[in-house]
Amino acid sequence: MVAEQLEKRGITDPEVLAALGTVERHRFVDDAQPYGDHALPLGAGQTISQPYVVALMTSAARPESGWRGASVLEVGTGSGYQAAVLAELGASVVSIERHASLAAEARRRLQATGFAERVEVVIGDGTLGWPARAPYRAILVTAGGPKVPQPLLDQLEADGGRLVMPIGEREHQQLTQVDRWGEEFRSRDLGAVVFVPLIGEHGHSAT
Ligand code: SAM
Repeated sequence: MVAEQLEKRGITDPEVLAALGTVERHRFVDDAQPYGDHALPLGAGQTISQPYVVALMTSAARPESGWRGASVLEVGTGSGYQAAVLAELGASVVSIERHASLAAEARRRLQATGFAERVEVVIGDGTLGWPARAPYRAILVTAGGPKVPQPLLDQLEADGGRLVMPIGEREHQQLTQVDRWGEEFRSRDLGAVVFVPLIGEHGHSAT
């Protein structure tokens, strides 16, 4: 997976390659092809992104000071796999999921794989962020919304905090990186992606 799907497509960050080579994807998803080059179904009509997209988002979100000890917010826990990759990199992660059933299953899998101490899974509307542990060095939103929710911008660290999120329509988005410097926010387009919708107060409607 690392050689064929990541390195050949230009993922070069050695820490990210090592983390995706270490975290056992098959322990986060029940599928005959857990390492296939495609998204996979979870419960509740949701999906886990293909390995390349996880690597791309993780590479883009890397704080300039590195991952070790960084406080990171993930919106959209899903299976817990992306959160485990961030924890493997040394981050301290809080991950929000709106579906209680997925959150419970992700907690179980993170416990079983030894990541539970470094990942706190909470249930709620991630478009509101998680102020209790803000500010965050990095925020990864793993569902697509119409714009970056203001609460997430507010909860980014002011001196180089970095957010990565798919922005656009319900069916297709542009993966976008936003860097915060004081009250200035600089955006960068990382390419076209397809994610399930971000549902919430500052996202899409449920229907
Ligand atoms: N990162 C996940 C993983 O590694 O398995 C995959 C995430 S999946 C593509 C998107 C997830 O975002 C779904 O589980 C969905 O329920 C969740 N979601 C959508 N809107 C949300 C919101 N406002 N707050 C929290 N979770 C949300």
